[in-house]
Amino acid sequence: MKVPLIMTPGPTYISERVRRALSREITNPDLDAAFYEFYQETCNQFKKLLHTKNDVLILSGEGILGLEAACASLIEPGDKVLVIDNGIFGKGFGDFASMYGGEVQFFQSDYESAVEVDKLQKFLETNHDFKLATLVHCETPSGITNPIDIICPMLKKYGILTVVDAVSSIGGEVLNTDAWKIDIVLGGSQKVLSAPPGLTFLSISEEAWKTILNRKTPIIGYYCNLSIWKNWYEDQWFPYTQPISDIYALRAAVDILLEDKKALERHAKIAQALRRSLIEAGIQLYPKDGFSNTVTTFMVPEGVSFRRIYEDMMKEHGIMIAGAFDFLKDKVIRIGHMGENCYEEKIYSTLKALDQVLKSHGILLKGELHKLFVAYV
Ligand SMILES: *Cc1c(COP(=O)(O)O)cnc(C)c1O
Repeated sequence: MKVPLIMTPGPTYISERVRRALSREITNPDLDAAFYEFYQETCNQFKKLLHTKNDVLILSGEGILGLEAACASLIEPGDKVLVIDNGIFGKGFGDFASMYGGEVQFFQSDYESAVEVDKLQKFLETNHDFKLATLVHCETPSGITNPIDIICPMLKKYGILTVVDAVSSIGGEVLNTDAWKIDIVLGGSQKVLSAPPGLTFLSISEEAWKTILNRKTPIIGYYCNLSIWKNWYEDQWFPYTQPISDIYALRAAVDILLEDKKALERHAKIAQALRRSLIEAGIQLYPKDGFSNTVTTFMVPEGVSFRRIYEDMMKEHGIMIAGAFDFLKDKVIRIGHMGENCYEEKIYSTLKALDQVLKSHGILLKGELHKLFVAYV
């Protein structure tokens, strides 16, 4: 099977150093004291990445597991949950909250823009009786980054716990967990980290731990129950056998990201140049503002379908780009520029191929996408 260049917003390309880590000889992670140290050191690396002193855990499961575990562990039946919703993942958080008995109230904001902070502030003045709020840092399907730096402190003023899905932003956007007062922030291995899919990591504040450990009702389930992790290090006990190879790979990935002092700058620069080239060529971006530094979402040009573009990109160029799902299905195209994929040469190749494919379908572009990109980057 020929492997395509996967320019999707996760999973991303996995570097050789990470692949080698994945293939390391293993020990028994339940018995070997050295592995407890390794897991702890890996969590410490994530503390640096997330700018937090809070506990960090790595759980075996996709980003969705982190999101569900936060809801399952914090929410008791009848708890009031504010779901801040300006996109597919934001809205979806509401399903998890109500699944665990939460009484959900949505704050809906324009799906084509970043969450409107002024409106949220007004809303909170008269509605702030919530135990926790859920929100999404980067709405991956629409390519929008939300100002969680303003929103989380605003929520905390009312004593509302903050749970942030930062799966597609961690490592590619500025994120200051402690300064922004985020109680739980969660990420996934296969986005900017550029490790294999399969792990989620999350940081848990002291206040969140207190809430989790002092519930009136028991947490339903086991795998999503964060309380079983509370003393894993002191007790030298993991709730289940750790996916040691995946954790070796994730460790290499977080080390690489922390060594790269220019990662954030590169994500911002490449994202901006990519947007400028698309706009200049006459392609319409999906968002009106709040443009993400890790994924760019733009409209499928009139006269061609996403399927055709996808297939031609794959067949003729071996490059995979993404569409989206839900209400954005067949309407938009997405290029991921996360972690290992956030390099000029990869975006250049992708745009050169896209330029050819669009022109072969009779789409008129003002200029050549890849050449515009080179001029702007
Ligand atoms: C990718 C992603 C997730 C996790 O989805 P998985 O399919 O479990 O990897 C969650 N939230 C956001 C915003 C994402 O981009």
